[in-house]
Amino acid sequence: MENCIFCKIASGEIPSATLYEDEDFRVILDLGPATKGHALILPKKHAANIAEMPDDLLGRAASVAKKVAVAMKEGLSCDGVNIVQNNGEAAGQTVFHFHMHIIPRYNGDNAGVTWTPGKLTDEMKEEILNAVKVK
Ligand code: 5GP
Ligand code: ZN
Repeated sequence: MENCIFCKIASGEIPSATLYEDEDFRVILDLGPATKGHALILPKKHAANIAEMPDDLLGRAASVAKKVAVAMKEGLSCDGVNIVQNNGEAAGQTVFHFHMHIIPRYNGDNAGVTWTPGKLTDEMKEEILNAVKVK
């Protein structure tokens, strides 16, 4: 994709701090890290979001996420890891090339990968169960 910054980074056209690379992915350090070690998994083929990702590639992205999370635990001695993947502006996506955030967490880091819990009412439950048809 022309003019896609993550296509250029994933292909190596723009240099990046690369933690891992294989045929399908490049894993880079985020320029605006939530915590020390925050990384992004970028597929080398352009897909704007999860809906555009081929299933086999998405599965391989999950395997890479596992490898990176394990390496972070070993190398950074983090206490936990968040895996975050934003789709659409409303969800906080700012770069429209699929990516997974791998965010090492440290006790008391206040990184704020969180939300305020609401309440699931019976009406809401019925409405959602009737509306969402997973195929
Ligand atoms: P999103 O909000 O789309 O899920 O995440 C985009 C992420 O990409 C942000 O965390 C931001 O800091 C990071 N980012 C944006 N541009 C660049 C860049 O040119 N290089 C790197 N390494 N990270 C970037
Ligand atoms: Zn792209």
